[in-house]
Formats: sequence, C-alpha cells, structure tokens
Amino acid sequence: MSVISLRKQDGVLIVTSDNPPVNALGLAVRQGLMEAIEQASRDDEIKTVVIRCEGQTFFAGADISEFTKPPVEPLLPAIVEAIEACPKPVVAAVHGTALGGGCEVAISCHYRIAVPSAVLGLPEVKLGLLPGASGTQRLPRLVGVEAALEMATKGENVSARRAREIGLIDRLANEDSLAEDAITFAKEVANIRPIPRTSEKKVAAEPGIFQAFRKANARKFRGFEAPEEIIQCIEAATRLPFDEGLAVERQTFMKLLFSSQSAAQRHIFFAQRKAARIEGVAEGIALRDIRKVGVIGAGTMGGGISMNFLSAGIPVTIVEQQAEALERGVGVIRKNYEASAAKGRPTPDQVEQAMGLLTPTLAIEDVSDCDLVIEAVFENMDVKQDVFRKLDAIAKPGAILASNTSYLSIDEIAAVTGRPGDVLGLHFFSPANVMKLLEIVRGDKTADDVLATAMAVSKKIKKVAVIAGVCHGFIGNRMLMPRQLEAEKLLIEGATPEQVDRVHVDFGMPMGPFQMVDLAGTDIGWHRDPGRIDNIRDALCAEGRLGQKKQAGFYDYDDKRNPSPSQRVAEIIETFRAKANVTTRTVSDAEIIERTLYPIVNEGALILEEGIAQRASDIDVVWVFGYGWPVYRGGPMFWCDLEGAKKIVVGLEKHMDKFGPHFSLSALLKEKADSGGRFNG
Ligand code: NAD
Repeated sequence: MSVISLRKQDGVLIVTSDNPPVNALGLAVRQGLMEAIEQASRDDEIKTVVIRCEGQTFFAGADISEFTKPPVEPLLPAIVEAIEACPKPVVAAVHGTALGGGCEVAISCHYRIAVPSAVLGLPEVKLGLLPGASGTQRLPRLVGVEAALEMATKGENVSARRAREIGLIDRLANEDSLAEDAITFAKEVANIRPIPRTSEKKVAAEPGIFQAFRKANARKFRGFEAPEEIIQCIEAATRLPFDEGLAVERQTFMKLLFSSQSAAQRHIFFAQRKAARIEGVAEGIALRDIRKVGVIGAGTMGGGISMNFLSAGIPVTIVEQQAEALERGVGVIRKNYEASAAKGRPTPDQVEQAMGLLTPTLAIEDVSDCDLVIEAVFENMDVKQDVFRKLDAIAKPGAILASNTSYLSIDEIAAVTGRPGDVLGLHFFSPANVMKLLEIVRGDKTADDVLATAMAVSKKIKKVAVIAGVCHGFIGNRMLMPRQLEAEKLLIEGATPEQVDRVHVDFGMPMGPFQMVDLAGTDIGWHRDPGRIDNIRDALCAEGRLGQKKQAGFYDYDDKRNPSPSQRVAEIIETFRAKANVTTRTVSDAEIIERTLYPIVNEGALILEEGIAQRASDIDVVWVFGYGWPVYRGGPMFWCDLEGAKKIVVGLEKHMDKFGPHFSLSALLKEKADSGGRFNG
C-alpha cells in the first residue's frame, strides 16, 4: 500500500500520509504528494484538497536516512511549488510537530488548520542549514520579518496558539476532530477566489530591523554561519520577487550543505544517537526499575544532581553528615529553582512539586529503599570507599550504586562492596542541573543491565550520555589535563592569560583555560599547603586568589564578576619566569592552538587506542556537551578530520621538546596522519 492514500468526499480530496513513525518526507511520501496534487488539478469533481497525516504527527521533517544518499526527484522544493500552484484550494491539517520540510509543506498550502497541541518550526539551523524548500521566502511573507527571523535563525518551535497569533495558521481545530474540522474548513474556502498564494504576497521590512536583530543576537550566533545566511535570505524576501528570492535561498542552501560547519553539526546530531549504543550489551536487555534515587552529599554536585531527578518527577533522598551542610544544600536547590521560576520556568507550582519530592536526611540508612544511589562526597578515595562500604551494607538488593567521582578508579571503589556488578560511575558536569553531558563510567565488573539502565535513566533526566572506561579523568577531564598544563607553561614562556583565553574564545569556546579555572575555583585539586608552591596555580591559591568566588584568580573581578587583567598575576608569572630562567618570547596565536588544542586531539586518540571511549564520535559528544567545544567544529576528533591528522601531527612534533618526556604521540593519530585516514568514518 502506498504511504499516501487518497479519498474523495463531497468534492474534497483528502490526502493522507501514513509513514510511521513521524511521517518523514521520504521519497515515497514526496511522490505520493505530487501525484495527489496532479489528480486534484485534473479531476473536475475535486473542488478542494486537505493534506493530513495519520499517526502521531504531521510531516515532522526530512527523512534523515536520505541525508547521505544522492537526492532522488521529486524533491521537496518542487512539491511545495506544485502544492501552491494547485488550482484548487489546499488546506494543511496539522497535528503533532510540523518541522522543517513539514512546516514548509504547511506554508505552501493555501490554508492551515491545527490542533492546539501542535507545534511548528524550522530547526534546520541547528544542523547548520537553512529551510531550503522556500521556508526563508514564504515564512516572512506569511508572518512578517520579525517572527520569521526568530523562527528560522533560532530553530525554536512555536505552539499552535502562537502560530495563530502570528498568522502562521488560520484556524485552531478541536483537539479530537482535526480531520472533520479540516474538511469543513476546506468546504468553506472551496470557492474563494483568488486563491491566497503566499508567494504572491509582499513583505516589507522596517528600516534597520536586520541590523538590530543581528546585534541583539550577536552572542548567540557567534561563530555560526547559518543564522547570518538565513538573515540574508529573509532580507532577500523583502527586496526581491519571489522567484529571485527562491534562487538566493537555493544557492545559499547548497553553500551551507557543503560547508564544514553543517557537516560538523550533522555529525554531532548523529553522534548523540550513536552514543546511546553500548558495546557488548544487547539492545533489548531487561532494565532495572528506577523509582527512587538517593544522593550522598549535598554540596555543589549533590544538589545539582538531585535537581535533575526532582525535575523529572523522581523522588530523591539526600544525605549529609551535618545538619548545617544539609540545610545549606537544600537551600541552594530551592534558590536555584526559584531563580529559574523568576524567569518563567518552572512555574512556582512546579517548584513546590519538585521540592516536595525531596527528603533531606542525616541518616544514610534512609537510602536503603532507593533503586539508584549516587555518591557525591569529597574527591578522596578513603572517604568514598567508606561511603560504599556503608551502602553495600544497607542498600536493597539490585540497587545501582554510582559514584560521581571526577578522577578516581571506579574499580577500586567497587572492590570494597560485595556487589561490584552493581557499581558504576555517573560523572555529571558542573552545574549538574544545567550541563547536558553525563559520562557513564563502566567498571571492570559493571553488569550489562546496570549500564543499560543508567543509559535509560540519562534520557529521563534529559542528559546526553557517553560510556567511558576507567582511567584517571575518564574521557573529558583526561583530555583537559594536557590543555591546562600547556596553557600554564605558555604563560612562563611569554603568553598572558588574556592572550591564551582570547585564542580559545576566538576558536569558539565559551571561555578559555584560565577563565574556566577561575570559574570552577583555582583550588580544585589543590594540595592545600600554602607553603608548597610548585606552579602558578599553587601561588594563586596560597594568596587566596581562588577564582571568581574570591573576586581574584588569574584575573581580578569586580562585584559583577567582570574580569580585568591582574597586575599581581603578572608579577607572579614574572617570578616563575625568573625561576625557570627563561627569556620570554612572543608566543603566536598559532602556537597556542598547536600547544593547547592539538594535545587534546592526541589524548583523544590515546583514549581510543586504549578503548576508554567506544568510538571517536563519543569523544566529540563529550567535548561539545561537557566543555563547550563549538558544535560547528564537531568536537576535537571531527575537527582533526577537518584539519587533517597530518597537520596535527606535524604541529605536535614541532613542540615535542616543550611537551616534555611524559608526552606520548598517539600511534593511532600517527597512523591516521600517514594513511590520510579519518576518525569519523
Ligand atoms: P563539595 O565539597 O561541594 O560537596 C561534597 C559534600 O559531601 C559536602 O557537603 C560534604 O559535607 C558532603 N560529605 C562528605 N562526606 C560525606 C559523607 N560521608 N556522607 C554524606 N555527605 C558527605 O564537592 P563537590 O564539588 O560537590 O564534589 C563532589 C564530587 O563530585 C567529587 O567527587 C568531585 O570530584 C565530583 N565532581 C565535582 C565537580 C565540580 O565541578 N565541582 C564536577 C564533577 C564531579
């Protein structure tokens, strides 16, 4: 049976797509739509047309499995032109999510009716593309420049009600009777002439609107090519006849399609999905039920971790040693929720609901009925092992026991329990209620169903999870180490914190290595002996320059946390230069890239060699979602593919004497350089 079925009823041709799961606009759907429009044009009995979908949604977008294949006609741009040119009025009946090509089909119809729960949107920008089937030309003609800019450059969906307000849809249907309401609507408009064709409308732009929009969104769009290209296409819609605007859109679409940014963004899109596949674990394995979670430690991480579960409606019992720490921790959770509520989401009711699911306690025994317990106490093996011994004694059989450790061995932690199969690492990133990344650390003995359950839980709390093996720092922090080490060395050789950070920010990172240390606290991992000064960080800590929290770290901060270069830090750096007996030199920006970013790639390659990461794309996911690597550069391994492994290896070899004897060039990276191979397919 064809995925598109046709039915005639009282002069209405009802065109129905049934292409599960999301009515993607694959070839069969496109062919069916084209034939339907041809029939409607030919058949005198047909006065009007309804296009609708069966199943959970209207056309949710392109068929992503076709992305990597050569295009086969009829293509979507031809379909939407045929729909609009149809001599009979065409009504789109929208439910679910009309996204991308789906939204473009809807706006090529002459009328649109949608149920209140429907959403519409043009998310192409998130893949570094633009809506290339007339979206940039029809949308502004339909909803005006401002609303079109918002939708197309940010890729955010609009609700049916909002769509009604801006003129994206004409009518709201009843939630339960879309098919009937659409037919009624189609009959009402059957004889209206001229048929309203969006391409025939004109759209005016207020003077300065594009410049103002660019300025208002400069931060959000920094580094990305697609938003600017979309702005220019929409600008063309205000200036050029429809066909010429369409030509601009087509040309720009092709440019973006072949751009490295879009390739990178599409890579990350697929990489996220791939990351959920756990090597050696059967797909349909039975999962453990996680209904109640325990969190040990109500500090920075424990609080944030708890919020993830509370927001997902899962009750949390949070344990501290002392009443004061417990009270402080719970207070921070509430404060964080209220700060978000003040901005509109969650609602105050939802805040109370979430807080109502939280049980604070000083008795670790209270987690004995929890299905998952996450330890987030101090980063110290003895302290952690002590906690796990207690958990082993009290946790119910089958409970999953997780550590949020940043660096320590999950195997050593698991070894103090009588159930190492139930133990794994769940490494959240700070702030844990905000950062998307979760490293699921697979111990030597971690059971398959424990891993699979952790992966399923990560989806419930809306994280992007990646499997990591046991090593010092797992995937992300281990790769960060050489970067931080080299960044500090560069200061002694002649660079400044401002220069190093600027190079990273120019590359597209949200902040540079020193800004990051100041944000996290220069004292993270500090040995806490002010008399022992082995490096610049020790010197800062010894003077109480602990970062933003003390308004002094690698930078000085005002009370609004705005940084400025620090004279004192310059002096400290100077003493290290004198001690090391180096003549300072001008460090080029290119060297900063080679010294701080290339070692990240090298460490990633070592991690692959050792099997710490399952695949190169997982490493890319870690860096995009955990460390702010610009998504348009696709993560460090994809970036290496773009730059060429050879260039990276040559760059690394140039600085071998500076990296020192501990540095080892990855054989895998070298092999890629020699063979011209890639990490990502
Ligand atoms: P923190 O000092 O803010 O919090 C630790 C909390 O644990 C304290 O409130 C302490 O009172 C409590 N605690 C200590 N022993 C306890 C026990 N036996 N029972 C109950 N509570 C106990 O530390 P943090 O930054 O939240 O770090 C916690 C863990 O998370 C560490 O292993 C750290 O490496 C890891 N981590 C931290 C970050 C980060 O950026 N802060 C990021 C990822 C992972």
